[in-house]
Amino acid sequence: MLIAVLSDIHSNLRALDAVLGSIGTVDAVWHLGDVVGYGPEPQSVVNRLREAGAIGVRGNHDEAGGGGTCIEFFNEDGYKAMVWTRTRIDESARLYLAGLPEQRMPEGSDFTLAHGSPSDPIWEYVDSPEVAQANLSAFDTTYCLVGHTHVPRLFRQLRGRMRAIAVDRGGRLALDGRRMILNPGSVGQPRDGDPMAAYMLIDTATAEATWQRVEYDIAATQAAIVAAGLPPHLARRLSSGR
Ligand code: ZN
Repeated sequence: MLIAVLSDIHSNLRALDAVLGSIGTVDAVWHLGDVVGYGPEPQSVVNRLREAGAIGVRGNHDEAGGGGTCIEFFNEDGYKAMVWTRTRIDESARLYLAGLPEQRMPEGSDFTLAHGSPSDPIWEYVDSPEVAQANLSAFDTTYCLVGHTHVPRLFRQLRGRMRAIAVDRGGRLALDGRRMILNPGSVGQPRDGDPMAAYMLIDTATAEATWQRVEYDIAATQAAIVAAGLPPHLARRLSSGR
């Protein structure tokens, strides 16, 4: 079974389409939340994910897009973009976002999906070995997939302790039965210094995960952000991947 794992798409339709185009035929598409927020095409991105038959979980931006009060915790740019997003999605998209579960274990798989962390799915950042270690008891499967930090990374147990391992483009990892927390990086707003859209492929036949990057038309997304009247910083940061 070939599975594409997408996270933090953030209303960036061009990045999502580039990823869907590059993955070709897969057996499943899983997303790790933050479908909307920051970017200029919230409705189209929700539609595209539904067309692709993706299953996923709810991020903080999805919760706010669905009407949640967590919008109060957003920074200024995020808040402005979310107020705008709410006026650009229809009721069906709103219900889709609000109805995403906080956590899920796709049937027949050994993976738990969460946006932030398995113990605090909406908000916690798994950004250190200590946080990863503390989360080991919060999921029952061997592997956990998270997003939220927008940085591709892997936390794996070594001699009883969790270690952080940086992953490069094209990086391969054997899913060898050791417990791990894996982050595919962000499709629509990468923050690891590489502006290309990031995603992960999991091949259950070979028990391998690979981290992938694909180019997309960043300038067109930036122009759409500016044309929508969204904060210009949200356009600029796409060039640097920060
Ligand atoms: Zn995000």
